[in-house]
Amino acid sequence: MNFLSFIESKREGKILAPDQIENFVREFTAGKIPDYQMAALLMAIYFRGLTTAETTALTLAMRDSGDVLEFPKDRRPLVDKHSTGGIGDKVSLPLAPLLACLGFRVPMISGRGLGITGGTLDKLDAIPGFQTLLPVEKIIAQVQQVGCVICGQTDRMVPADKKIYALRDVSGTVPSIPLITASILSKKLAESLDALVLDVKFGCAAFMQTRADARKLAQAMVSLGNECGVNTRALLTDMNTPLGCAAGNWLEVKESVACLEGQGPDDLRQLVLEFAAHLLVQTKKSKSPAAAYEKAADCLASGAPRRRWDEMLAAQGADLKAFIKKLARDSTAPVALELKAGKSGFVARCDARLIGEVIRDLGGGRLTKESGINYHVGIDRLAKPGEAIQKNSRLARIHAVDRAQAEAAVARLQAAFEISAKRPRTTGLIVEIIAPSR
Ligand code: URA
Repeated sequence: MNFLSFIESKREGKILAPDQIENFVREFTAGKIPDYQMAALLMAIYFRGLTTAETTALTLAMRDSGDVLEFPKDRRPLVDKHSTGGIGDKVSLPLAPLLACLGFRVPMISGRGLGITGGTLDKLDAIPGFQTLLPVEKIIAQVQQVGCVICGQTDRMVPADKKIYALRDVSGTVPSIPLITASILSKKLAESLDALVLDVKFGCAAFMQTRADARKLAQAMVSLGNECGVNTRALLTDMNTPLGCAAGNWLEVKESVACLEGQGPDDLRQLVLEFAAHLLVQTKKSKSPAAAYEKAADCLASGAPRRRWDEMLAAQGADLKAFIKKLARDSTAPVALELKAGKSGFVARCDARLIGEVIRDLGGGRLTKESGINYHVGIDRLAKPGEAIQKNSRLARIHAVDRAQAEAAVARLQAAFEISAKRPRTTGLIVEIIAPSR
């Protein structure tokens, strides 16, 4: 097979045949195509794009590069939610046990953070003893028994994505709509889902900076997901402001538990309930969005999802006693310092990008895939847009490894907040719903 001619074809903007794409993915996964040739093809795709048929072929070839989860027949639908990533985005943690209590099976295969956006697996790694890497057989057994699992991609699942993503990361080819579509959907299709809801974020701390680009990505994923037999929808959500009032791995676990206990910030609770409601409607378990939202809210209030969370943790090896003890601590970082408001007024901006950069530099995120991570650093008690504040009252609390780093973070974070004399008009968190066109 002449792989050079495929690269040249794409470079010239020609359309590749599905079998050419399948071959390329198969041979690359088997180590028969060098990284430099794949990187060249990825760059050609970045500039020339892929047609819908090409994107479908790439997605299916990536899905079929490893095991596809096969579940026993069961009346409980298989569902999942996937986010394109943001700051403070911990929705998956309370959502998985809530969905399990609503009568779904949830095989949530999640990822790690890179750069400023957090990763679900990194958050879960902050829980004492919790195992995120599970064999396929264990994933299936736990989904059947507990109703939910949140774990990482194994070497046997979608290995093509693992290799291609690592190359995209170092070749400047991550922000490409067809490549993101294939990467996310190949993993979700390997879960054998009945329904999927996507959280496509836009704004200063998201992959897609503009709402228009986020819409394009959402439309591509919704149309391909449905074409591949998974009832798929997407919500476009604002990522100019962090979600919730805490960002940083352990602090986000704490806020997720608060949400499961009926406390925690309203925006987090709203997103968790909205995603659950969409899946209830998509799978016809509820007749209307309003009835679905109420059903999800009642279920959360019952306390059952909080207990199911503990069951999921125990099934994945967590030390529940140590976990409860850790939850009771106000801060697990050596130093906690507050950022105070310089004047009275209303919070007009709380910049998610800058907050993400500060947390990454405190050690809470990675600059490269190999970087270590500190689970305890981060920011909580964030003042959010629309909130009235007094001079010298708290805008945020910084958790750091030492005083010098905490003070440097406080100094940088001044610029993340804007205080205005008038209450600003805040836009809603969910700005658009992308459903399949009929
Ligand atoms: N998340 C993924 O899994 N893949 C991408 O390409 C981007 C975000």
